[in-house]
Amino acid sequence: MNGYDYLIPKSFTEVWDLNKKFPGAGYIAGGTDLMVRIKQREIRPRALISLRSIPELSGIDIGDTIRLGAMTTITDLIQHPELGRILPVLIQAAKRLGGTQIRNVATLGGNLCNCSPCADTALPLLVLEARVVLKGPEGAREVPLSDFFVSPGESCLLPGEILTDILLDRPSVDTRSVFMKKGRVRMDLAIASFALLVEIKSSGPGCSKVRIAAGSVAPVPLRLKEVEQLLENTGISEEIFLNAQKMAEGIVSPITDIRSTEDYRRRIVGVYLKRALRKLIYTNGEWHKEK
Ligand SMILES: Cc1cc2nc3c(=O)[nH]c(=O)nc-3n(C[C@H](O)[C@H](O)[C@H](O)COP(=O)(O)OP(=O)(O)OC[C@H]3O[C@@H](n4cnc5c(N)ncnc54)[C@H](O)[C@@H]3O)c2cc1C
Repeated sequence: MNGYDYLIPKSFTEVWDLNKKFPGAGYIAGGTDLMVRIKQREIRPRALISLRSIPELSGIDIGDTIRLGAMTTITDLIQHPELGRILPVLIQAAKRLGGTQIRNVATLGGNLCNCSPCADTALPLLVLEARVVLKGPEGAREVPLSDFFVSPGESCLLPGEILTDILLDRPSVDTRSVFMKKGRVRMDLAIASFALLVEIKSSGPGCSKVRIAAGSVAPVPLRLKEVEQLLENTGISEEIFLNAQKMAEGIVSPITDIRSTEDYRRRIVGVYLKRALRKLIYTNGEWHKEK
């Protein structure tokens, strides 16, 4: 491995100065993606700027808007006393990310900025319609997470920008959600993954809101907006579920690689959608009426 400088700024101002002094330096959060790439000689950074000692990047604030600092570790999410109740779909996904040692250092910001199509936390955050705050020397901007991912390994971050916060509106009490993941073994990157969020109509059968996301089945974590529209504000039946399943299988564009085949991935998405719909809104011919 080539040598590199390891820099530990304590403020954003220091970060911007270091970027000028060390052109081409990269950011490191938990290092669980980055160090693998350095060891495999995929990248050879001249310097790494650690984001660990910048206080503004930490912390979880719960209000009508929920703020998750980018340096929040996956374990921090899981152990938070309120998040499991408020954002169950995020915590379900967090529990499926890697093993304990990885979750203890891997950060939420790193999972998103790595821009892998299989990033586990991306799917729940997509169905929760998260926004991300991106900060550079000239100021900060807010971007919907669905616009953040550009291609595998590439986000809309400008050179030097840092993802500082993930922002979410608190879901309504009528919201139900679920995360599903298929790996070759339980602890593995996803062959395919899936998240569904529905808001049940208070007036009768049906959903006033449906949000669907799928992972490892397109170049980026994907929202299935056409399927959402098919299912929103319509009657619900096994026939509609089947149409939605077929539509979802047609929309995704998976590839065949060492983990799985294109065809199997496509089918998993369809099957997960149908299972998730049944689980959340329609069981044995009866609507879930209880909250
Ligand atoms: C054994 C193993 C198992 C794994 N299992 C899973 C799994 O099941 N599911 C899954 O989704 N992932 C998995 N991963 C991948 C990895 O652990 C996660 O993607 C993790 O969340 C990355 O976070 P990090 O803090 O370690 O990121 P880092 O490795 O530090 O950074 C990743 C990239 O993001 C950039 N970056 C990080 N934070 C910021 C920021 N705030 N602003 C701007 N850029 C930033 C870095 O420059 C780097 O390019 C696994 C990894 C390993 C080694």
